[in-house]
Amino acid sequence: MNKIMTEQELLECFDDAVRFGHIFVNYQPKINHSTGRMVGAEALMRWTNPEYGMQYPSNFIPVLEKHDLIYRADLAVFERVCRFLRSCLDTGITPVPVSVNMSRYDIYRKNYVEEIEKLRKQYDIPVNYLHVEVTETSAIGGMELVSSVLKQLHDYGYIVEMDDFGSGYSSLNVLKDLAVDVIKLDMRFLSGSIGGRGGTIISAIVQMAKWLGTPVIAEGVETLEQADYMKSIGCKYVQGYLYSKPVAEEDFLQKLQKIDQEPMTPALDLIKTMDAGRFWDPDSMETLIFNNFVGGAVIFTYQKQKEKAEILRVNKKYVREIGMNMIEQEILDSDPLQGMDEQNRKIYFDTLDRAIASNDEETCETWRTVCSKTCGEDRICVRSFIRLIGKTETQYLFYAMVQNVTAEKARYHELYESERRFRFASEQANVYAWEVDLATRKMRPCFRCMRDLNIPPVVYNYPEPVIESGIFPPDYADMYRHWMAQLEAGEVDHLEAVMPLTVGRIPFHVRFSLERDENGKPLKAYGSATLVVDEKE
Ligand code: C2E
Ligand code: CA
Ligand code: CA
Repeated sequence: MNKIMTEQELLECFDDAVRFGHIFVNYQPKINHSTGRMVGAEALMRWTNPEYGMQYPSNFIPVLEKHDLIYRADLAVFERVCRFLRSCLDTGITPVPVSVNMSRYDIYRKNYVEEIEKLRKQYDIPVNYLHVEVTETSAIGGMELVSSVLKQLHDYGYIVEMDDFGSGYSSLNVLKDLAVDVIKLDMRFLSGSIGGRGGTIISAIVQMAKWLGTPVIAEGVETLEQADYMKSIGCKYVQGYLYSKPVAEEDFLQKLQKIDQEPMTPALDLIKTMDAGRFWDPDSMETLIFNNFVGGAVIFTYQKQKEKAEILRVNKKYVREIGMNMIEQEILDSDPLQGMDEQNRKIYFDTLDRAIASNDEETCETWRTVCSKTCGEDRICVRSFIRLIGKTETQYLFYAMVQNVTAEKARYHELYESERRFRFASEQANVYAWEVDLATRKMRPCFRCMRDLNIPPVVYNYPEPVIESGIFPPDYADMYRHWMAQLEAGEVDHLEAVMPLTVGRIPFHVRFSLERDENGKPLKAYGSATLVVDEKE
């Protein structure tokens, strides 16, 4: 029979529960959702009373905390875990690191860390098999105290996981000030749809953790959709009913033998001296500047060996400048170098190298193809001001301010090619156009001339072939030859007349304008012919 015990009953049974092993442990695997391998497990306290049956942590843990008994239960759990790990190691089964919960009340006990360390030594468990989970709310008792306990744990070599991250207590500040090695993000705290506000917060936290080089485990993951979503935003480690409920020791032993294992690794290993945390402190000057006082800005990592870059953070203006309708998440997921061709890539890498060497701001302009779900592909030119802000053994960290200079470039290009563009434009408007190189008498027609009048792409010895073909009728041939001579001699700058063209003698307004070099010598003649429509009326 199952009955929830009262506070009084719990207290009366507690000594026996510890002594006779009514308090024991279930294990819940932590899985890499990308590979399906196990990266660790969490030890969860269970209490079965011989008379009342199974008791729930949510019921008995607050009672034990209230009466200052939780440390005894926690130590019992820790010892059980040590014993389990010992038996694994003794029987040749490779265990995974098991994390043990530490109540915030344990933190107040002076010798708690020493006591778990004593147990670990007693069972001779390598410290990498034991992690400690502390909750964010531990910080309520004072930052200094928690910090010193974390330091103690770290000095002994324990990995510390921050449990229930996002549950409320000023999470960002806690993270900034506490040296935790792993963040556990509980999906249940970020209730509601992952597409909404909850999703935005989760993805911001994951990005932030990435920046700090801290792996994130998503807890309470019940559906494939949740796990896939977490993976898509860069959090591949999950713990929850999707993979497994907490299971009894024997069942967990089976899982250890059935499921492949792998170690948990951080997404990014930053040098410890870099105060990356400041960027995530909402009140810091860095954040203020990043969000408000600069243009488009991006923080990205660069692995030189692999020529690989990864965007960690962009501000709103970056999304506006470069995003081409992409949302921030799409930008973060995209490979920033993907859109560059080899030549532009080289320019960009050279600039990064210069920035590494000079430790100063370096500038470049590169073209890239950006792709967005809504707009498709587009080519943009980006001017970047790049500065190195950190480095690790394997990668560099850069801060870049960007400007989208595509329009500026296009205007320049436009001027540069205005003549050509004019001629292309004319194709749209019932205009036949061509240019004649006066020195060589080579003529190049527009596409329309080629299509409608069957003129080849290059006409030599202009205008004779077009006179011969009848485009310029014989009675106008001499007049037309005279025009060419006048243009060639530079005697006129403009010529125009209505001429009946082709064998059909269709009236066209034919015009020429002359282009000269800086010394006034004739270079090219630009000809056009437009249909005369109802000119008499
Ligand atoms: P916690 O440390 O956040 O542990 C995770 C809780 O979520 C566990 O509840 C686990 O069974 C549950 N859980 C795991 N996956 C899912 C899921 O997909 N969906 C849902 N709905 N729940 C999931 P549990 O075992 O009842 O423990 C509750 C809390 O009690 C723990 O939360 C922890 O704060 C505390 N606790 C458990 N074991 C210990 C312990 O050994 N020492 C101390 N001090 N506290 C413990
Ligand atoms: Ca926990
Ligand atoms: Ca938790």
